[in-house]
Amino acid sequence: MDKIILTGDRPTGKLHIGHYVGSLRRRVELQNSGEYKKTYIMIADAQALTDNIENPEKVRENIIEVALDYLSCGLDPAKATLFIQSQIPELCELTFYYMDLVTVARLQRNPTVKSEIQMRNFEASIPVGFFTYPISQASDITAFKATTVPVGEDQLPMIEQTREIVHKFNTVYAPVLVEPAALIPENEACQRLPGTDGKAKMSKSLGNCIYLSDSADEVHTKIMSMYTDPLHLQVSDPGHLEGNTVFTYLDAFCRPEHFERYLPEYPSLDELKAHYQRGGLGDVKVKKFLEKIMQETLEPIRARRKELEKDIPAVYEILKKGSETARETAAQTLSEVKSAMRINYFEDQELIQRQSEKYNSGN
Ligand code: ATP
Ligand code: MG
Repeated sequence: MDKIILTGDRPTGKLHIGHYVGSLRRRVELQNSGEYKKTYIMIADAQALTDNIENPEKVRENIIEVALDYLSCGLDPAKATLFIQSQIPELCELTFYYMDLVTVARLQRNPTVKSEIQMRNFEASIPVGFFTYPISQASDITAFKATTVPVGEDQLPMIEQTREIVHKFNTVYAPVLVEPAALIPENEACQRLPGTDGKAKMSKSLGNCIYLSDSADEVHTKIMSMYTDPLHLQVSDPGHLEGNTVFTYLDAFCRPEHFERYLPEYPSLDELKAHYQRGGLGDVKVKKFLEKIMQETLEPIRARRKELEKDIPAVYEILKKGSETARETAAQTLSEVKSAMRINYFEDQELIQRQSEKYNSGN
């Protein structure tokens, strides 16, 4: 079976380093690996509207931001199809049919949706569209027959839900759909990068992000004010690594060569951690090291973005072309789905013939 990638992001803000380690970095590697027949990258504007109904301008304005972030990280329109979800109406049609295959109870059990509802204080006023977005996500994935979905760990329940829908559809109707697998980072720190405030997840909605497009000064300020270990008051105090965001970021970004370049007195991250735990290593020194690594990682992304910002119409053109290409594929899958569901009346000559005979056999 051909290997196909689909993944995407909600245009609710610029992309941040959590997106980068959770999914974006991997996507670029996969795109360049030559192992995948197709790579589809979707800007999920329709999904973003499900919890931003008061604020459609935010979604509209952020499409270009996400597209610029994609391209500056190395997603290449010659190798990957970049498209906008709302421009593919076939996805809505698939969602409508998949809704028959999922119970309300099952949706209520989805742990990501549960915690997102809590975070947004929706309580009893959950928009139906938000509640059912896992079904819409199943449409996004299956429309492209994606085998592989590179995402952060919070998306695992969505992929599981998609697999269930696929299984049900293929059992009830015909084996048309492909069961996808999530591809989450092996590195635990990258699966759910915490925010600079130490909160469990860096997230656009929580305002605790280092954005890929932040200036060098902004990155400096954010790193220097990052959450570390509240018990580590004096340099000589023993420090704790548990929940210490600076060390989590080092786990996510630091490579051996960074020590040679920026902190040659330590042979490895393990040694740096051990010193911190023993006491005698100050937060500022560790933060400065982290900053060097972050600036080195982000500088080329920032530079590419600056170039791309000079020609915004060209970026929209990439999305338009991508959306046209994506639509063809989704239409093909939808047609197979409708045939399997036997709602292809006008193409079904056998049906027309049989019913014609039923009413005319006595003549
Ligand atoms: P929102 O707050 O609007 O939901 P978000 O920051 O959670 O935004 P999404 O667009 O929902 O971003 O997520 C896009 C992709 O990035 C998903 O694959 C998700 O798993 C991944 N991702 C988001 N935040 C993180 C993070 N902090 N660490 C690792 N991966 C992340
Ligand atoms: Mg999210």
